[in-house]
Amino acid sequence: MGNVVLNLSLSEINKMKSYYDGKLLDKTPPGSVFAAKTAGSTITAYKSGKVLFQGNGSEAEASRWGEAAVKAPAKTSAKSKVPKGDLPDGIGQLSVIGSDEVGTGDFFGPITVVAAYVRKEDIPLLKELGVRDSKDLNDEKIISIAKIIKDVVPFSLMTLKNEKYNQLQQSGMSQGKMKAILHNQAILNVMEKIAPVKPEAILIDQFVQGSTYFQHVKNQKAVAKENVYFSTKAEGIHLAVAAASILARYAFVQYIDKLSESAGFKIPKGAGAQVDEAAAKLILKKGQEVLPKFVKLHFANTEKAMKLVGKKRG
Ligand code: MG
Repeated sequence: MGNVVLNLSLSEINKMKSYYDGKLLDKTPPGSVFAAKTAGSTITAYKSGKVLFQGNGSEAEASRWGEAAVKAPAKTSAKSKVPKGDLPDGIGQLSVIGSDEVGTGDFFGPITVVAAYVRKEDIPLLKELGVRDSKDLNDEKIISIAKIIKDVVPFSLMTLKNEKYNQLQQSGMSQGKMKAILHNQAILNVMEKIAPVKPEAILIDQFVQGSTYFQHVKNQKAVAKENVYFSTKAEGIHLAVAAASILARYAFVQYIDKLSESAGFKIPKGAGAQVDEAAAKLILKKGQEVLPKFVKLHFANTEKAMKLVGKKRG
C-alpha cells in the first residue's frame, strides 16, 4: 500500500486532469497542476511532471498512467546514527516546519536562513525530487533541486546582508543571537503562509541550546514556541530541514554570484587562504571602503587580507 510517483509530461498531466474531472479537489498544494481524490487514491500532479498517488489503491490507479519511477515506502525508518533526543516519536513522518541556515562560516556573503513546511504527504515527492542532506549534494545539484521545490514547498527566506551583519556585530550582538532572530522570523512567516493549518512540529537545526535560543528571541514581537524542537543533524531527521537547507544554500550561492559580478571576479566561499587573496584583490581594485558590503569584518581573514594588501603595495 505504498505511495507511487510517476514522471509524466505536461500534456499527459492535462489528460489526467480531464479524466479526473468531477473528482478534482478545490484545495491544491503550491506548485501543483491539480489534485484529485478517487475511492482508493489521492492524486497530486505537479508542474515539474511528478505525479504522486497516495492511499491503498495507489498502485492500481497509477498503473493507468505509466510505470512507477519509484515506489515510495509508506514508512521509512530514521537512520540509527541520527541523534533523536527528546523529539516526538516518528517525527520524520509528521508535517513539519524545518529551518536551517547557511553562510555563518563564510567570510564573503550573507547569512541565509530558510524555514520550509513539508506536509507528511509530500515526503515521498521530495524524496523523489532528490531532497536529502545538502552536504551530500554539490552546488549544481542543489540549484536544480531548489528551482523545483521552491514552487512545491511553502518557505520563507531571511537574508542578513553583510553591511547589516557588520553593524549588528559591532554593536555587540553575537552571531548566535542573529541566527536565532532570523530562524524565529522565518518560522513565523511560514506559519502565517500556511495558516489556518498548523505544523505538527517545528524542527530547528540546532546551533545553540534551546534555552539560549529562547533567551535570544525573548524581546521579539512574536515568538514561535509551541512544538519547537532542536536537533543537530536535523537534515537527517526530517526532509523539511533538508529542504530548508537546500533553499538556504541556493539563496547563498545566488548572492555570492551577485557579489562576484559586482567585484568583477569570482568570489570564493569558505574562510580559507583563497578568501584572503580575494579580499586583498577586492581592496586593491575597489578600495577598503567596499569591504563591509562583501565580508564579515570580524573574521580573522580581514587582517590577513590587509597584510596581503600591504605586501602587494610593497
Ligand atoms: Mg545548520
